[in-house]
Amino acid sequence: MYDMAVTIESNGITSQQTFDSYVAEFAGLALRLVNDLTSERAHGQHVEPPRSGADQLAIIEDALAADESLHTAPFGPGGAEVLTAAVRRLRVAVDACVDGDVQGAADVLNDLLAAHHAMPNLHARPGQPLLLAFHAVGQGPVDSYIADMATSIAMIIGAGRTARLGRCSANACDRVFYDVSRNASRRFCDLSCQNRAKATAYRARRARDA
Ligand SMILES: [Zn+2]
Repeated sequence: MYDMAVTIESNGITSQQTFDSYVAEFAGLALRLVNDLTSERAHGQHVEPPRSGADQLAIIEDALAADESLHTAPFGPGGAEVLTAAVRRLRVAVDACVDGDVQGAADVLNDLLAAHHAMPNLHARPGQPLLLAFHAVGQGPVDSYIADMATSIAMIIGAGRTARLGRCSANACDRVFYDVSRNASRRFCDLSCQNRAKATAYRARRARDA
């Protein structure tokens, strides 16, 4: 699975384990790609999102390689550009959730689901039990990934877990995450931003007290 910044517990979304692990896998991929393909500020620094299809493809390949059940991207730079455009829409949806506009997020997700032909379909990976995927057999790989990612984010909302979608509160960081903390209190994308925010708050207190 993915690093802690995006890992989603695999049996908590609908309480049905096989289903949830598929949702968690693609929601995790979606959030990782939102960060890697669209963030303009990360860990206190300006970052330049990848502009060319080739650069976007390299980032998508890295994300897929990090998950043992996914594989290398079966598409080229043109497919990476289409996928990146959809991931930018996923960023809009996640930001809308964080900012309290859940209906706005739903509108974006519903458009993506329709445009990329999402549909429930029972699949079996080789040697494994059937699972419910969100793209038709024979659907192209780009549409399939988009349909699975958009459905998985939609599942989080539909399962009443919208508040678990978060965005880093540290200065100059847009990175998003799924909060698995017990009391849903996570504020930062990772420990480095948490430490940076603590140091900033400490300096502000010192300056005030001086
Ligand atoms: Zn951060």
